[in-house]
Amino acid sequence: MEKGLTELQHVILAHSIFLLALTGDVGPPVQFMLKHLKLAGVDLTSTHIPCQPCDLTRSGGFSPDAGAIVLCQGNFLNKKHMEHTLVHEFLHMYDHAVFNVDWSNLRYHACSEVCLLTHI
Ligand SMILES: [Zn+2]
Repeated sequence: MEKGLTELQHVILAHSIFLLALTGDVGPPVQFMLKHLKLAGVDLTSTHIPCQPCDLTRSGGFSPDAGAIVLCQGNFLNKKHMEHTLVHEFLHMYDHAVFNVDWSNLRYHACSEVCLLTHI
């Protein structure tokens, strides 16, 4: 995402990205994850992908309690970076939906991260 945009513009961009994902104007990995999240019973809407300020070390995150993926406003280098972040966080969302991960257990959390590192 572009730097220097207002918070509202970033929220609009995040929702636009979600709409692009729904129309297939994103890379195959994002489309693959959207398809499999739907098959897993996750009914995604744009409210599941809010765009919020974060520290500069992050580009996104999965919030199990909210069942949402946060995209970090202003922290993306380009569309590919954002898509990579989406796929990573979608995989956490998939783990949460299918395997009922206990995110307070560091072994489960580490397992999810390691699995992502070996599959992306
Ligand atoms: Zn992760």
